[in-house]
Amino acid sequence: MKALEDKILKEGTVLPGHVLKVASFLNHQLDVDFIMEMGREIGRLFRDCGATKILTVETSGIPIAFAAGAAMHLPVVFAKKHKSSNLSGEVYSTVVHSYTHGVDYTVVVNKDFLKADEKILIVDDFLANGKALLGLIDIVKQAGAEVVGCSCAIEKGFQKGGDQLREAGIRVESLAIVESMTSDSLTFRRV
Ligand code: 5GP
Repeated sequence: MKALEDKILKEGTVLPGHVLKVASFLNHQLDVDFIMEMGREIGRLFRDCGATKILTVETSGIPIAFAAGAAMHLPVVFAKKHKSSNLSGEVYSTVVHSYTHGVDYTVVVNKDFLKADEKILIVDDFLANGKALLGLIDIVKQAGAEVVGCSCAIEKGFQKGGDQLREAGIRVESLAIVESMTSDSLTFRRV
């Protein structure tokens, strides 16, 4: 998505540890019109996927998932981050390693909101090593539901999560794929 690439070049900054900061429009302040535009693009890409629901993980996945849900007229469920592993039987849960915080956390989804007959489109803000998406895929599998695809706003293509998921046969569509980045240059993958 050319508009997203332009916005990353204009507003993004590269932090140590291969972290791209896009706080001005996606991760702290929200550029609502632009996020809705990204949601429409996800809707266009996954128009025929048959999804019945969108799944994301709090916090930064919620705006883009909401926008995709609005475009596709689908409900959005966000997995909640849970501090303790002391959980009730009412939830599906999995452990995810956080790329940006370097810690493991448990994410949970109430069983009421994920049923075996559902087709799930997973949406998130960033895709790096793929741990967040793998955690959400695990939760969908626990429910006996089907993953019809994954869509992220920004994929860091020099980290391998996206390509590993594609090799595993999962449809992954990212709106922009960063091929390389340093503090003074950033390039995108041409697909
Ligand atoms: P993964 O699980 O694919 O390694 O990392 C994806 C998750 O880590 C996303 O949910 C996102 O919140 C966070 N993340 C990974 N890399 C970046 C980055 O470069 N910038 C920001 N803002 N978040 C990132």
